[in-house]
Amino acid sequence: MSKYIDNISLAIETAREKLASASSAAELENARVSLIGRNGAFTALGKDLASLPSEERPDAGKALNAAKEEVLALINVLSAKIATASNLGEKERAEDLTLPGRKWKIGRKHPVNIVIDDCVRIFRRMGFIVAEGPEIETVFHNFDALNTPYDHPSRDTADTFYFADGRLLRTQTSPVQIRVMEKQEPPVRIVAPGRCFRRDTPDATHSANFHQIEGLYVDKDVSMADLKSVLLQFARELMGQDVNIRLRPHFFPFTEPSVEYDFSCVMCSGKGCRICKHSGWLEISGAGMVNPAVFSNIGYDPEKWSGFAFGMGIERIAMIRYKITDIRLLYENDGRFLNQFVNIH
Ligand SMILES: [Zn+2]
Repeated sequence: MSKYIDNISLAIETAREKLASASSAAELENARVSLIGRNGAFTALGKDLASLPSEERPDAGKALNAAKEEVLALINVLSAKIATASNLGEKERAEDLTLPGRKWKIGRKHPVNIVIDDCVRIFRRMGFIVAEGPEIETVFHNFDALNTPYDHPSRDTADTFYFADGRLLRTQTSPVQIRVMEKQEPPVRIVAPGRCFRRDTPDATHSANFHQIEGLYVDKDVSMADLKSVLLQFARELMGQDVNIRLRPHFFPFTEPSVEYDFSCVMCSGKGCRICKHSGWLEISGAGMVNPAVFSNIGYDPEKWSGFAFGMGIERIAMIRYKITDIRLLYENDGRFLNQFVNIH
C-alpha cells in the first residue's frame, strides 16, 4: 500500500517538473503524452492497481484519481497560459514601432476611365444624366432604329461581330439612346459612356474594342445652336478655355443635318503642327440633329419634339490629351505606362 502511494507521489513530482519546463504547445503535448497517454506513467500506475490486494485498492484508486486530476488541471492551466503568450507575441510584433512600415500599393485609374469620368462630370454639370445599355445588342437597336440603311457597310459581318442567334456586339453606344427613348417620354438629356466593338485590325489608331461617350438631348425647340454651345462648353472644360470648335457638314443616318466637329489643336493652339497635320484642328467625331425618322421609329412625335445627338471616342480624347501616339498602349496593361497617369480629381 505505502509503496504504491509512494509511487504516486513520485509520479506527481515528476509530472510537476515536466509540466513546469514545458514552454510551448508542442512541449506541453509531449509532457501530456508521457504522463497520461497510452504508455504514460499514470496509465501504468492504473494498470498496477489491479495487482494490489483487494482491501488496498479503494484507497489506492482514490489517490491515483486525485493525482490524475491534479495533472489534468495543471495541463489545462499551462495550455491556456501558452496560448495567451503566443497571442501576446503576435500583438507585440504588430506594434513594434522599430519595424519599417509596410508600403501599400495604391491602384490607379486607367487613362480611359479618367477620361470617361471627366467627360461625365462635365456633362452632369450641364444637366445630363448617365444612361447605360447592354454590350450585346439586337440588330434593331444597333442599326434599324438608328435609321441605318440595310446596305450600309457597317452592318457587314466583316465590320461587326455577330452571334449565331443574330444579335451582335454593339458597334457604337447609340443603341443606348434608343433604349432610353423607348422607355421614357421627352425631355431626355443623357450621356452614355461605354465599350464598343468592331472588326478592326489593331494598329496605332484602331482597336477591335474601344470606348465611346454619346449624348442625346430631346425637348421642344432644340436647335443646332444648342448643340454647338454644349460641344463648345464641353471642349473648353475638358481641354482648356482657349479651345475652339468648328462644325463641318457631314452625313450620318441617325442625324439630319449631320456634322463632324473638330477641336482647335491643343498642341499648337491652332497654329499648325505635326499632330494636327498642320491644319490647326483635331477631328473629334460626329453629331447632328436627331433624324425625325428615328423619332418615328421609337414612337416620339417628330412634329412635337426635336433633339441633338453627339458622340466621341474616349481613346481619341485620351490620346490627344496625354499625347499618346499608339492606341495599343491603352490595352497592353504595361505598369510603366499606366503608372504615369495620376487622376488629379
Ligand atoms: Zn497642332
